[in-house]
Amino acid sequence: MRRKMVAGNWKMHGSLAANKTLLDALIAAPAPACDVVVCVPSPYLAQAQGLLARTPINLGAQDCSAHEQGPYTGEVSVSMLRDFDCGHVIVGHSERRAHHAEADSTVAMKAQRALDAGMTPVVCVGETLEQRERGQTEAVVGAQLDAVLLLLGERIDQIVLAYEPVWAIGTGRTASPAQAQEVHAFIRQRAVRHHAGAAAIRLLYGGSVKPDNAVELFAQPDIDGGLIGGASLKAADFLAIVDAAGFST
Ligand code: PEP
Repeated sequence: MRRKMVAGNWKMHGSLAANKTLLDALIAAPAPACDVVVCVPSPYLAQAQGLLARTPINLGAQDCSAHEQGPYTGEVSVSMLRDFDCGHVIVGHSERRAHHAEADSTVAMKAQRALDAGMTPVVCVGETLEQRERGQTEAVVGAQLDAVLLLLGERIDQIVLAYEPVWAIGTGRTASPAQAQEVHAFIRQRAVRHHAGAAAIRLLYGGSVKPDNAVELFAQPDIDGGLIGGASLKAADFLAIVDAAGFST
């Protein structure tokens, strides 16, 4: 049985004051029945580390460098993230693939760095609307997945995967539970063909998840929780989504 997970991706939002209000509300809620992670902007890692210490909420980052250290201005290494008790890191988010030209191979290297540092990479894959309409969803998602499968080998069962159709991110347009399940099943079968242990990988769905669609999405057999953008910035919405995951655990 795979334990459900809900991870919040704050993206480039927040301030010291707003973060404290949000995290205080999350901490005050009853203990979650699933794993909960908040992925905060790097400048706020120390603040979030302090507030989340000794709580059931885990700290995550939104990206890491594919390098360990060196002349990479602006980048943040996994060992720097570890200094702040950061246990998870999103890699390959579609916004980074699109705006920072991150190739599948770079995303795989970042996932490898995270694993080497003892962190859990949350590896994002997903197709654009154009690719879906051309019938290329499996080819695109399959190639993104294969890069990670090839590099991580047997360690693939230590990652979390997030299927995030680009057309559903921040658009209010969610994949239907059936559409999401179809791609999740494809991802799991492909990963299992590579390594039997991949049956245990948690596959999150991301893309306009809200309290009113979370229960049905999380009830799908291959959907093990969600990666939540916009709704993770509102405590009531995020907690309702966490409850929805706990409910279907
Ligand atoms: C995301 O940024 O990973 C995401 C899923 O965003 P949203 O929930 O706002 O669509």
